[in-house]
Amino acid sequence: MAPMKPTTEPSTLTSASFEDLVQEMLVRLGEDPHREGLELTPQRVRKSLQFLTRGYTEDAETLLKGALFTVSYDEMVIVKDIEMFSLCEHHLLPFFGKVHVAYIPNGKVIGLSKVPRLIELFSRRLQIQERLTTQIAETIQRVIEPQGVAVVIEARHLCMMMRGVEKQHSAAVSHLFCEKWGFSIR
Ligand SMILES: [Zn+2]
Repeated sequence: MAPMKPTTEPSTLTSASFEDLVQEMLVRLGEDPHREGLELTPQRVRKSLQFLTRGYTEDAETLLKGALFTVSYDEMVIVKDIEMFSLCEHHLLPFFGKVHVAYIPNGKVIGLSKVPRLIELFSRRLQIQERLTTQIAETIQRVIEPQGVAVVIEARHLCMMMRGVEKQHSAAVSHLFCEKWGFSIR
């Protein structure tokens, strides 16, 4: 297929602002970027994408530092049904669902409120579900070295649902990752 003809593209893309690029995208999609409803869209898109990818500027170790507690028990800690919203890196469309985290401590636990924050940190980036699952599990593994950790994510991917790849009400995808327990189901 022949490459699309540039329309209002500036001479260099590096000199274009984020808003310019969004406006150009609207033109190439066949829209009139100057009609009322679209006038402020480039700014809105920039703001919302910056918000949805703000996890890049946060560091997991820093987040968890000061929220680790010494314990003497070794019963399983479960934090479940944590809401998650992310963007798929292949289509820049949302995938969202629930995250469940379980681990058996080995002398240390993470403050309960920090588990959702950790999930937030990794989900506010361009992601794929498998890597998100692994990053959450590996961080917990590295920071508190539990006897075992498992992370399950049930998510619905709009890139599949909206394009008809997946039926609207099909079952959510689920992932499980276990360190030291010696199994991994994907
Ligand atoms: Zn996708």
